[in-house]
Amino acid sequence: MPELPDLEVLKDFIDSNFSGKNILEARLNNSKFLKTKYFPPKIFNKSKLSKVSRRGKILIFEASNGFKLVFHPMTRGWIKLGEGEIFTLEFDDGTKIGIYEVEPVNLLQLFIVRKPENLSILKLIGPEPFEDKFNVDYLLLSSENFKGNIKKLLTTQKIVAGIGNAYVDEILWDAKINPFKKPGELGKSSFEAIVKSTKKVLSEAIKTLKEVSGKDLPPFEYREHLKVHRREGQPCPRCGTLIQAKFEGDRGTFWCPTCQPE
Ligand SMILES: [Zn+2]
Repeated sequence: MPELPDLEVLKDFIDSNFSGKNILEARLNNSKFLKTKYFPPKIFNKSKLSKVSRRGKILIFEASNGFKLVFHPMTRGWIKLGEGEIFTLEFDDGTKIGIYEVEPVNLLQLFIVRKPENLSILKLIGPEPFEDKFNVDYLLLSSENFKGNIKKLLTTQKIVAGIGNAYVDEILWDAKINPFKKPGELGKSSFEAIVKSTKKVLSEAIKTLKEVSGKDLPPFEYREHLKVHRREGQPCPRCGTLIQAKFEGDRGTFWCPTCQPE
């Protein structure tokens, strides 16, 4: 599933290469993915792409006529240059960006709206990890009465936006916190480490993904730089202990039993 760093680099690529261009035609090539029915895709025709922004794991394409295309990639959604199996924006210089699923899982969601902030997926979303609002006091408050473990807390979009199953493992490894600990078992210094590691891990990932992509479209789910996620049985880069894994369905949690003791 694309997470904050993936979408941040994708957003920057599209915003810097396509914002300011005139939209010749917007085409919905598979109608089941459009979750709003009030405005047709042709509402974007002859308008300009003003800017592309990101909120959590969601991208918002803003047109000069005030309409917005909201793109939630879910687990397999991404963007290509050219016609998209699901949606295409064709510009008057002949270039196109296409929305599609890298594997057809039928989960991707599109919305055409004036006010994205009124969509429930955006209304109920927590602060961005780079915002000052995401701090120790905020996490302590969010932990009160939270039923799950610390991994679950950090991947709950209502609490903090953009972190998923892969980067949370990296963040908790960096902070030396066991992913199965209950937030109530953690002291203030642990939360300080988590806040610091969150900002560090995500900003380093954005930098790496930008280097990997160069001037091209970023690849879907580049994960080569991850230190523990999907590294079961490999030595911990910090202490050499073999990385452990625990699976619930197809979702794995990966951690170092020495650096992140129970
Ligand atoms: Zn270790």
